[in-house]
Amino acid sequence: MIYTSTRDKSVKVSASQAIAKGISADGGLFVPTEIPTLSLDDIKRIGTLDYIGRAKEILKLYLTDFTDEELSMCVEGAYKKGKFSSDKVAPLHKLTDSAEVLELWRGPTCAFKDMALQLLPYLLTVSAGKTLKDTKIVILVATSGDTGKAALEGFKDVPNTEILVFYPVDGVSPMQKLQMTTQEGNNVSVCAIKGNFDDAQSGVKAIFTNREIEEKFKHNNLAFSSANSINWGRLVPQIVYYVSAYCDMVNNGNVKLGEEINVVVPTGNFGNILAAYYAKEMGVPIKKLVCASNANNVLTDFLTTGTYDKNRAFYCTTSPSMDILISSNLERLLFILSGYDDKKTADLMAQLSSEGKYEVDAELIEKIKSSFAAGCCDDTATKATIKETFENSNYLIDTHTAVAVKVYEDYTGKTGDSTPTVIASTANPYKFSKSVLSAVSDEVKSTDEFSMVDELHEKTGEPVPAQLANLKGKTPRFTRVAEKAEMKQVVFDMLGISKSDINS
Ligand SMILES: *Cc1c(COP(=O)(O)O)cnc(C)c1O
Repeated sequence: MIYTSTRDKSVKVSASQAIAKGISADGGLFVPTEIPTLSLDDIKRIGTLDYIGRAKEILKLYLTDFTDEELSMCVEGAYKKGKFSSDKVAPLHKLTDSAEVLELWRGPTCAFKDMALQLLPYLLTVSAGKTLKDTKIVILVATSGDTGKAALEGFKDVPNTEILVFYPVDGVSPMQKLQMTTQEGNNVSVCAIKGNFDDAQSGVKAIFTNREIEEKFKHNNLAFSSANSINWGRLVPQIVYYVSAYCDMVNNGNVKLGEEINVVVPTGNFGNILAAYYAKEMGVPIKKLVCASNANNVLTDFLTTGTYDKNRAFYCTTSPSMDILISSNLERLLFILSGYDDKKTADLMAQLSSEGKYEVDAELIEKIKSSFAAGCCDDTATKATIKETFENSNYLIDTHTAVAVKVYEDYTGKTGDSTPTVIASTANPYKFSKSVLSAVSDEVKSTDEFSMVDELHEKTGEPVPAQLANLKGKTPRFTRVAEKAEMKQVVFDMLGISKSDINS
């Protein structure tokens, strides 16, 4: 399978090159030039396998330059018994007669990012072995809270890699921050920046596509890659759980093989929902993909009007991992649905970067609307939804999942669409204890993070993941707070490269 760039179709790379590079030199994102398909018989057969078996079947369709042995090694390492707190890896939980929650947060860092970031280090190591001999890979990550920790955990002490995570100083929850700043491992660094996630992501992209730095890196046998969802190696593992969820629904008798479902995804960078779109295009019977946003509702507006406009207030919400105004993966959707039109995509992205705004033509937005619906909700509605879901269904959800549940309710209310639905649940509620506790409890007694964790546990009986409880009392290793403009310097400092090396 050949991969190309959304901004230059003359680019042709293999899967392992796409994964090792992370982003195309022209600033575009790598996409496969065709989408492989699954028949209902394939889905039926895949449904007889466990999660590891399902992952192998899906991944081999995309990672065609990996041998079966390589793929088995990767997938078995990522999802081996004990890494996830469910033997099913990504289990379904029945919420109502028509809606099931897909629990994607059972991994080591308690957010859905683990689903891909437990696998990515394996994929990247194999890819680098094929394409970048004797080169150390430097992983740069911009995080809205969860990717950072999941990437650190995935890459810690992986030979021949260094990882550096940038997070917005005021843009993550206390638990998310503690998870990152206390990270162990000899090849890891973490730095806060004075800015929001979009600033961090733009800074990282600028470093990736800086030709001069790339040249200097080559001389030092270093190469950048990305653990953000701009990397295809992040997206492809996420397709697996949508196929797997459908298989489980068939196996549970909740739908008949071939019957359609809807999928609701709480969205930030558009990565998770794009993976669901790939599953749909592969042949999983998905009718609508419902894109759920918080108060940063740039995607809701785009998907309803065809105008993307990031010139608007940026809100720090109780669902911080979705506080994003530049949803990078939308670029891939625009490319695909414009008929792989690289010129058009490059032009829209140039407008986004110069004016912060673009408008797509009627034909393109109609195509998008035929697959996607969208909605948003604010923090007040998020809080009410956590409370109602707990009281009515005895099920505790985090703030991001609550956005999805609320948007799902609004969607069914408005459309009357009663199609069986999978709602992606993206984080464990204890990552956002303060918001979740204040939603389910009329009077919160605690003030510090870990008393709130205890209070939430007493109130709900929901088990506290050990990996979060164990952070109590840990001293942060990483305390640097940098200006946005200093991000390049932070990278050099971590690698022990002086400015003169770079300029020479
Ligand atoms: C990253 C994240 C999201 C958004 O996912 P995207 O792939 O960026 O759209 C939603 N919820 C949680 C908890 C996250 O960590």
